Amino acid sequence: MYYKFDVVIVGAGGAGLMAAMQLEGASVAVLTKVYPTRSHTGAAQGGVAAALGNQEEDHWKWHMYDTVKGGDYLVDQPAAEVLTREAIDAIYELEHRGLPFNRTADGRIDQRRFGGHTRNFGEGPVRRSCYAADRTGHMLLQTMYQSSIKNQVRFFNEYLVLDLLLNNGQACGVVAMEIRTGEIHTFHAKAVMFATGGYGRAWRITSNAFACMGDGMAIAYRRGIPLEDMEMYQFHPTGIYKVGVLLSEAARGEGGKLLNNEGEYFMERYMPTLKDLAPRDIVSRCILQEVHAGRGIDGKDYVYLDLRHLGAKVIEEKLPDITDFARNYLGVEPITEPVPIQPTAHYAMGGIPTDIDARVVIDPQWTPLPGFYAAGEVACVSVHGANRLGTNSLVDLIVFGRRAGKHMAKFIKESSHAPLPPEPESYSRELVSTMFASTGGESAARIRSALQNEMDEKVFVERDEKGLQEALDTLDRLQDTYTRVQLQDKGKKFNTELVEAIELGFLLECSEATIHGALARQESRGAHYRTDYPHRDDANWLKHTLAYKGAKAHDVRLDFKDVQMVDDPVFVPKERKY
Ligand SMILES: Cc1cc2nc3c(=O)[nH]c(=O)nc-3n(C[C@H](O)[C@H](O)[C@H](O)COP(=O)(O)OP(=O)(O)OC[C@H]3O[C@@H](n4cnc5c(N)ncnc54)[C@H](O)[C@@H]3O)c2cc1C
Repeated sequence: MYYKFDVVIVGAGGAGLMAAMQLEGASVAVLTKVYPTRSHTGAAQGGVAAALGNQEEDHWKWHMYDTVKGGDYLVDQPAAEVLTREAIDAIYELEHRGLPFNRTADGRIDQRRFGGHTRNFGEGPVRRSCYAADRTGHMLLQTMYQSSIKNQVRFFNEYLVLDLLLNNGQACGVVAMEIRTGEIHTFHAKAVMFATGGYGRAWRITSNAFACMGDGMAIAYRRGIPLEDMEMYQFHPTGIYKVGVLLSEAARGEGGKLLNNEGEYFMERYMPTLKDLAPRDIVSRCILQEVHAGRGIDGKDYVYLDLRHLGAKVIEEKLPDITDFARNYLGVEPITEPVPIQPTAHYAMGGIPTDIDARVVIDPQWTPLPGFYAAGEVACVSVHGANRLGTNSLVDLIVFGRRAGKHMAKFIKESSHAPLPPEPESYSRELVSTMFASTGGESAARIRSALQNEMDEKVFVERDEKGLQEALDTLDRLQDTYTRVQLQDKGKKFNTELVEAIELGFLLECSEATIHGALARQESRGAHYRTDYPHRDDANWLKHTLAYKGAKAHDVRLDFKDVQMVDDPVFVPKERKY
């Protein structure tokens, strides 16, 4: 089928829906491979940051400072200013659209503490996270979905986008496979937006949903668009031991503490001011240091998250979902027992490079690709730099999703549909038919498992040259094996084996860019910790990496882009202490 819209948005998570809601009056299609309310945004637990100052004094500039410092100064500072200033208004927009936030006694939006968010430029924790129990993302997504339906957005659910269409350096549509029928469709548009989320399934221990396979990043990358700062991948300190399912930082925001096998609340020793509410990169590393020193529980690779002192009422009322997770996955009762946790793959700080209007930019000179937008976890406007603060992703979705929507609204008024390239579906049809035709005998599940083991072992919280080189060799081999994946299911309708095999291709490419960036960046900054280069090196590495695809895993080309600063001494890079 051929469809024509003003705007095509790929992804129905927070970023995609926030953009769709801004486009009243335009013809808008939202394509999503899962049902909209099953997007990973719905799993967000802890909250969304904005300096409302409802319980105690707060300012957007304090929030900006925390964001820049939390990101270990790799943040593009003008973007962080936009994020933190506009957060306040974006939260009120959601409130007015009906998001049921928790309330203070006097009826205002309640706020709680989260890692790395401080008052007065680092003095101590501040209440900045707006929340709806530990189901903030769920509420956000439901609210937005209802609003989008009201706005007559046309949803194409369970459509897997395979390709981005470009013509003469301009975006003009996408090609998608309808999962139900296996048919290929062309969507012709004046503006295309990717809001496809992250790629946390590249690791085995992960907090991410099955759909987080890096589709949008890989599709753009295949079309010659670079991926920025892919080595900056966040590992959340508190994943359920051995599974990775997340126990939100809200648990520590409410007063939970990490405990080692000597009964010590060890974060007090490492970070005397913020303690358990230090940023995630630091807390994850501290857990590993405890484990290396033999202070993991039973000498193993995990520690405890202790909530017992909070009491049953706080635990049941403010942390109901994660309490259930601990009970269901571990058989542990958080009211009376400490919960086994370990760091888990969580969030991509890197992604498709964009400017503050969510326009995709393709080189170090910030050249935009007309008609192509990205926002949310798939994008790198670089408000998170080398490490994202908790609750700063949801706010990124709503601020930059909204900006994308507003800019597209303007753009489609001023432009007409660019012609489609000749044979727009040829790449996608060949991708699918090659998979069906393959007799190579390899299994996608086996390749995915080998990839995840390698990423868990060598591209985790700590990295070094030797491990990364080995990971790259493994990846080269896996890419080659991938060309021989053979499907057992040859049917066209609802062929989930085919979908998973295609997604695996995306995951391999995101991993390739991640390893290249990690190998090149010979310093430690934020989430990227190199045991062989343990210090931050601003003289050589205060810059973003841009990875451009080559023919094989080893052929990736890297370029570099300056970090953008604002003219204010408060934001000059310094050593990070908490
Ligand atoms: C367990 C968990 C808890 C979290 N808690 C918080 C929190 O409390 N606060 C916070 O700020 N952040 C939190 N985060 C991070 C935050 O939730 C995510 O970064 C954010 O929701 C991503 O939103 P998104 O709109 O970019 O993408 P997603 O919500 O991941 O949505 C992606 C969309 O793209 C679609 N899609 C992808 N590929 C394709 C394709 N090829 N074709 C068609 N459609 C496609 C999917 O169907 C989906 O609709 C959490 C993350 C996790 C995993």
